[in-house]
Amino acid sequence: MPSGLSSILEKKDHDRSDILAMLQCSEEEAPLLYRKAAAVRDRYVGNHVYLRGLIEYSNICGKNCLYCGVRRDNSRIQKYTLTNDEVIEAAMTAHKLNFGSIAIQSGENSSKVFVDNIEELVRAIRKLTGGELGITLSLGEQTRETYRRWYEAGAHRYLLRIEASSESLYRRVHPEDEMHSFYHRLDCLRVIQETGYQTGTGVMVGLPYQTMTHLADDIIFMRDFDIDMCGMGPFIEHSDTPLGVRGTDNLFLRERFNLTLRMIAIIRIIMKDINIVASTAMQTIDPAGREKAISCGANVVMPNLTPARYRAGYLIYEGKPGYREVNETNISGLNFEHMPGMTLGRGTWGDTPHYRRRLSKE
Ligand code: SF4
Repeated sequence: MPSGLSSILEKKDHDRSDILAMLQCSEEEAPLLYRKAAAVRDRYVGNHVYLRGLIEYSNICGKNCLYCGVRRDNSRIQKYTLTNDEVIEAAMTAHKLNFGSIAIQSGENSSKVFVDNIEELVRAIRKLTGGELGITLSLGEQTRETYRRWYEAGAHRYLLRIEASSESLYRRVHPEDEMHSFYHRLDCLRVIQETGYQTGTGVMVGLPYQTMTHLADDIIFMRDFDIDMCGMGPFIEHSDTPLGVRGTDNLFLRERFNLTLRMIAIIRIIMKDINIVASTAMQTIDPAGREKAISCGANVVMPNLTPARYRAGYLIYEGKPGYREVNETNISGLNFEHMPGMTLGRGTWGDTPHYRRRLSKE
C-alpha cells in the first residue's frame, strides 16, 4: 500500500490539496519528493545545469520594496551604474568561458537614457558574439514598447518575479502606492509573455505573513500562467529595510531553505519541462544550497560576473555570496560530487522545451 505522498506523486494532475500535502510532507518523506522531482527533470529537460552569467548593471532603483536592500530609500549603499564597456567586458568573459547565456539585472529604471542604453547594449552583445550568447533581462516593470524594443534588439528571456501571487500578501511587503501595484506587475508579466519572451517569474519563500496556502497558490499561479522559467528563493532579511528586523513569527532561515527545496521540487513535478534556477539565496543559507536545489529539480545557476568592486552595492538581501571572481577552472562554482549524474551545459543557450511547446499551442 503506497504512502500518502507516494500515491500523490503517482498522480498525473495535482490539485491544491495535493500541493499542500507535498509542501507539508514529513522530513522522512521529503527525499521521496526530491528524488521524483530530479527524475522528472532528467526526463523532460535532461541532466544538465545551464549557466547564466549574471551582470548586475545598476543598483539605482525607483522603487521601495520593503524587503530589498537596493530600495530607493536605502541611503547606506553607494549607488552605481556599470559603464557600457564594463557590461561588454563581462559579457565577453561569459562568451570566452562558454557560458552560453548572460542575465542582465538592475534596479528598476524607465528613463529614456536607461531604456536606450539597454537596447544598445543588447544589440552590441549580440553582434560581438555573433548571436552565440543568449540574453536574459531582469529589469523590472516597463512599457509594452520598451519590452518590444529590447526583444527586437535580441533579448529573448525576461524574468519578472511576482514575489507573492496573493494580492493581499503582495501589498503587505510593498509600499501602498501606485508605484507598487500588484495588478500592474501582473499586466507587465502578461505583456512580457505576449511580446514573445521566454517568461520567468517566481516568489519569495518564508515571507512574513505568508502561509502554506499562499505557497500552494503560488505554484498554481505559475502553472496557470504557463511560465517558462522559475526563480524562487528564501526570503532573507536585510537590516537596512523595513522588513529587515526578524519578526517573532518569521520562520527560521533553515525552515525557509527547506520549504524552498520543496517548492522547487513541486514546481518541477507539476511543470516538468521549464527551467528552474538554483538561486544564490540558497547558497547564502547553506554553502551547498545550490547543489541541494539542483538535486531537487533545479537546472540553472547564475554565477556572478559583475565587476567585484560593485558587488557590495547590490545586496538585495544580506550575506549574499559571490564576492569572488568567477574561477576559470570551475566557472559554475558548483560541486558536482554533490550531484551525481549531473553535467554542466556549456556553450548553449539552454532554452526550455516548454517554451517551444507553448508556442506550438498558440
Ligand atoms: S526588489 Fe527590485 S524593484 Fe524592488 S526595490 Fe529591490 S531592486 Fe527595486
